[in-house]
Amino acid sequence: MTTAESIIHTAREAQRQVAKASLRERLDELKQWRLRIGDMREDIVNTITAETGKAKTDALVSEILGVVDYIAWLVKAAPNALGEEKVSTPLALMGKKSRIWYEPKGVVLVISPWNYPFHIAATTIAAAFAAGNSIVLKPSEYTLMRGLFEKTVAGLPLLSRALTVAYGDGALGAELVAAKPDYISFTGSAATGRKIATTAAQLLVPVDLELGGKDAMVVFEDVNIERTAAGALWGGLTNAGQSCTAVEKLYVQRSIYPQMLNTMKRMLAQLVVASDDQGDADLGAITTPFQHEIIVKHLKDAKAKGAEVIGGEVLVEGDKPLLTPALVTEVTDDMLIMQEETFGPVLVVLPFDTEDEVLTAVNSSDFALSASVWSKDIQRARRVAQAIRCGAVSINNVMLTEGNPALPFGGVGESGAGRVKGVEGLRAMARSKAVLIDKQSSKIEANWFPYTREKYALFEQLISAMLGGIKSFVNFATTGTKLEKQAQAPRFPKE
Ligand code: NAD
Repeated sequence: MTTAESIIHTAREAQRQVAKASLRERLDELKQWRLRIGDMREDIVNTITAETGKAKTDALVSEILGVVDYIAWLVKAAPNALGEEKVSTPLALMGKKSRIWYEPKGVVLVISPWNYPFHIAATTIAAAFAAGNSIVLKPSEYTLMRGLFEKTVAGLPLLSRALTVAYGDGALGAELVAAKPDYISFTGSAATGRKIATTAAQLLVPVDLELGGKDAMVVFEDVNIERTAAGALWGGLTNAGQSCTAVEKLYVQRSIYPQMLNTMKRMLAQLVVASDDQGDADLGAITTPFQHEIIVKHLKDAKAKGAEVIGGEVLVEGDKPLLTPALVTEVTDDMLIMQEETFGPVLVVLPFDTEDEVLTAVNSSDFALSASVWSKDIQRARRVAQAIRCGAVSINNVMLTEGNPALPFGGVGESGAGRVKGVEGLRAMARSKAVLIDKQSSKIEANWFPYTREKYALFEQLISAMLGGIKSFVNFATTGTKLEKQAQAPRFPKE
């Protein structure tokens, strides 16, 4: 057995114990885990900032507050989302009852990235555990946070048993996928997502793919410019732009384009970029040197092809590089910054004239994760939001769908498939089982053997009655009774 196979095997044994506990017991442990995370927040924030270099406020708000809020929602929503569900039974199946049971999938493999190393893993673990699964977490090799998750679950009998953290790089991730878990929840780049989906397809293991983005923000001329400029800067630069839903392209209607750009330049100059801050830096470091290289390459390529770049100066090189945030204008479609995910503190600003023109531009991207539309005219904003191809859209706000754990989260196209969060994300962690209960045990069903000409004719009449709507209800009932009689006629003579 390889290391990966033995990890999955052990997790499978643990899952049998976890599934024996009731949903209530698992939710009680999640409540305790939530409090534990709250109590340990200083430790967690320190570990996250040490490993990512992100600003302290980004760590506290996105990683801790977001998780505490999500688990609170989960504990409330899970009894309905995962409990036995009653569904209607058609008249033709009179006397029976129909139910849906949500059962655990088994071992859920969670492969997570480095940009929100705590939030993404913790929320996925919580959902998977609530549904009765065991979890193997494979964190990014750039943000291992070795021992942190184990510390948060220590002493919680079920959750500590359910969770295994497997430390390693992409090669271990690939081996874990090949070891055939029952479900894979992957968050990371489209390139890795494609590899995982290819292996998983061979093994017929279902996969949730939460991939990259190149999100657009569309601003119409009737907005409040101060608020919208502040929103654009936060949406583009929070977590130093290392967010899958960061605004990368800002489309501004031409009549307010100069004013909007000037307001953003003024605000940009006042943002604080620093490492090891005490909650007073707006932007922290770039987490990995390779991401820094991509950002610098995009900026250089844009400049070489004629773009104007404001900011984007490298302050500190090395393991956790620091870069001033940048606004990029005068761009053309052939620039890398227009085609690929930049994943850094860079905002491209483009003017547009009409609704149609901006929609064509936004929908031309292969990535389609989230977007935002800004206008005082809510009808127009809704119309444009509806026409944008993406998984989530905020109106007059930015990255805010993620602020509500009840909303599903996920992308379209190169941004992925499947959903986390919301009831949909919770149920994705379960296997639905269709159940039909027939309490009586004496009658033979009309559609069972033997088939006869009389039965055939009666089924014909039944279909006509069904197609006839409410008026045919009487016909339906009489035909049904005749069929029932036929069914009970002794046709299999005893020898
Ligand atoms: P990545 O794809 O390089 O790595 C993600 C994880 O996959 C890591 O744990 C890595 O070790 C593992 N991995 C790498 N190769 C693997 C393989 N062949 N098989 C199995 N596992 C493998 O991504 P990253 O650089 O860590 O993260 C940044 C990317 O993640 C960006 O594209 C960003 O947009 C995306 N992201 C998406 C979301 C979302 O929810 N849609 C959220 C955060 C980040």
